[in-house]
Parts: sequence; C-alpha cells; structure tokens
Amino acid sequence: MTKVFIQTYGCQMNVADSDEMFAHLASRGAQYTENLDEADIALINTCTVRDHAEHRAVSFLGRLAAWKQEKPGRVIIFAGCAAQRLGKNLQKKYPFLDIISGAKEIEHFADTLDASGLFNAPGKDTHQLASGLTGYVTIMRGCNFACSYCIVPSVRGPVKCLPAEDILADAAQKAQAGAKEIMLLGQTVNAYQFENTSFADLLNQVSRLPGVERIRFTSPHPIYFTPEFLDAIKDNPKIARHVHLPVQSGSTKVLQEMKRGYTREIFLEKVRALKSCGFNISTDIIVGFPTETEDDFKETLSLVDEAEFFAAYCFKYSPRQGTPAAKMKLLPQNILEERLDILLNKVRGLSDAAYQAQVGSVQEVLLESENKGRASGNFWVKTRKSYPVGSVIKTSIEKADGTLLFARD
Ligand code: SAM
Ligand code: SF4
Repeated sequence: MTKVFIQTYGCQMNVADSDEMFAHLASRGAQYTENLDEADIALINTCTVRDHAEHRAVSFLGRLAAWKQEKPGRVIIFAGCAAQRLGKNLQKKYPFLDIISGAKEIEHFADTLDASGLFNAPGKDTHQLASGLTGYVTIMRGCNFACSYCIVPSVRGPVKCLPAEDILADAAQKAQAGAKEIMLLGQTVNAYQFENTSFADLLNQVSRLPGVERIRFTSPHPIYFTPEFLDAIKDNPKIARHVHLPVQSGSTKVLQEMKRGYTREIFLEKVRALKSCGFNISTDIIVGFPTETEDDFKETLSLVDEAEFFAAYCFKYSPRQGTPAAKMKLLPQNILEERLDILLNKVRGLSDAAYQAQVGSVQEVLLESENKGRASGNFWVKTRKSYPVGSVIKTSIEKADGTLLFARD
C-alpha cells in the first residue's frame, strides 16, 4: 500500500484543499500516514500570503532531498499558493521534485496526477482525511478584490462559486462521516451567490442537514454584511455566534490605500449590527503598511478598543511581489516590530476582558475532547465532568482564566 504524508501550511482553505487532493490520491490506492519516514508520497500544500509562510514551505521541500534519496521511488508533490507563484522555476532549483500543482489547478489535480504517469488509474475509493468534528467545505474559490498588499487574487484567480447542490452534498457527506460542525470557506465567503442561492440561503440549508449541530464560516468581507443578510440568519441558532471579520487597519486613509472598499466608520457600523444579533467578533490586522503613520496606527489602536474584538490575528506587513503595495517604500523593521508589540498587548487585554465578561453566562458548548470544547461564540470552555466527544451541552460559566472559561456543570 502506498502511503502519503501531508504537510499543510496556511489557512483553513488550504486544509480543505489538502483534503480534496488526498481524496484523489486515495482513489489511486494511497493511504494516509502521519509519519514521513514510512511515506512513499510527500504532499506539501503551501501558502504565500506572507514571505515567512512561503519560506517555511520551501525550506521543508529542501529538507526532502535526503528523504527522497533514501528511497528513490518516493514522490514529492508541491502544491498550493506558493507553488502557483514560484511555478516551474522550482524544478530547476529542486530537480528531485516530481509534481508542481498551483492553487489555480486544484480542480484539475486528478488530471495532474494522471499526466505524471506515477499513479494507478483511479478506483472507487474516495476517502477524505478525518477532519475531526469540523468538516471544512469550500464554497468559493479565488477572489475578485484587489487589496493592494495581497497576493491571493493573483495566485488563486477570480471568484468561482461552487454549485449549491455540490456544497450540500459535500457537507452532508462530512456530517455523515462524523463532523458536527461545518465550516464554509472562501476568501470573501459571504459574497457567495450561485444562481438563485445566496450565502444566507446556503447557511440555512446546510443547518438543516442531519447531524449538523453548528455552522461557521470564514473569511467574510465586511461590505457583504447587509441588514437583509442579518435578518435572514439571525434567528437560526445553529449559526455560530462568532464572525471573523478582518479589518486590516483602523485608519480610513490606510484602508483606502489598501483598497479595502470600506471606511473605519462603515466597518464599525457592521460591527455594531453584528453585535446586536449576538455575534462575537475577531479580526485580522496588518501593522506597518508602507503609508501607515504614527497617527494611522493610533487609529488602529482606537478601533480595536471601540470594536472590542475578543481575538485578533496581527501581522507585520510583508511585501508580496507583483502587488501594488510592493512598489512602495517600506517602513523600517523596528517600527513594524514596535507597533506589533503594542497591538498584541492591547489585544491580549481585550481578550482577557472578553473572557471575564462571560462569567455567569450560559454557554452552549460543543465538546472537542471529553473535558474541553468551544462555545458558539468561539470561547474555549473547560468542563468539570467528562462528556462524549461531539456532544453539545449547555452550562453556566463559573470563572475565566486568560483565554479559558471554566464551566460550573
Ligand atoms: N480574504 C480575507 C480578507 O479579505 O479579509 C483574508 C485572506 S488573507 C489570506 C488572510 C490575512 O492575511 C489577511 O486578512 C491579512 O491580514 C493577512 N495578509 C494578507 N496579505 C498580507 C501581507 N502582504 N502582509 C501581511 N499580512 C497579510
Ligand atoms: Fe486578499 Fe483582499 Fe481578496 Fe482578502 S479580499 S483575499 S485580503 S485581495
């Protein structure tokens, strides 16, 4: 039996893509292994959103030279966003690399495998990776925005929404295989529209599938959160009360230079509307965009206070080749580091406060292990008693410590 080891870098979309690529390998007789030493195939699914992510994937590829030498029949597949950006140049530098499959090619991965001549013809076996309690379901590929710092549109191409019927079949299959939570994925996931099915329709339809306890989605774009959308979903208890809503900056001037399509005020309006429907909000923030002044950065700090995010992923700006911002003069690294430190400190404080504010509340928790699970608002909760993994309990919260809530159950 051929065994495949998979190393995935980057976002949840990449996790879903790895799952999809594995299904094609499984139908050609491969079995999954967590142990690289016993593997015959190494699949590296890569990210290029920041230079650091790409660097990690390429270094891992470099280390596989020795692995391949041990058994020359081994196969190395380099896939995803960094593979799309670096393309055929990689083969010159890493001649031991067998297959390059860029992010735009994911839908044709089966053809890529067949064209390589390295695999058997596909059989009926369509295993997917056991993704545990959360089933990741891609509903849209690509992105139609052109944020000036971002490489995603060039490596993933324009938006293509998948047919609602296929999405429902995928989610139903994952629920049948044991997923209790379905996470719908896309770069601007809430822009989804396929024929007459809107994103709100899709959320409501997935929530009615047997076995689905909870639905999440990522990443939405602020501009698509309309009052009509909120009206259509706000009474559906299966839609988790958490939205990851990337803001990137708190300065309207920087947002315009980033070409984000909203102002600070519009973003805060969306936050207020979501909060009024009980949604807990986290975000992504970039510090040190080339035109970010000290005052712009202070506006980011004040927006973070106003929005009261319960969590934020904060990144130092990383220039990406071919993007408009990459032509701008970089700020000194020490400024980026200082700003990141200040922001991370503030976010930590807000997170602790958000967890403390839950003490005394009643939370619905989906158990991810016997004693720990996630509340609908995405808070981590530790229980006193043990419960079957995958069960949903309602419990009141006794205390909070850092980013962990303790249940009174
Ligand atoms: N589509 C999502 C959106 O528009 O909010 C985000 C997708 S992107 C893959 C994930 C995050 O990476 C972004 O929200 C942004 O904070 C960060 N990011 C993207 N390009 C970056 C860059 N050049 N430097 C630093 N961070 C970046
Ligand atoms: Fe990148 Fe902007 Fe598209 Fe998000 S919306 S993937 S940040 S271009």
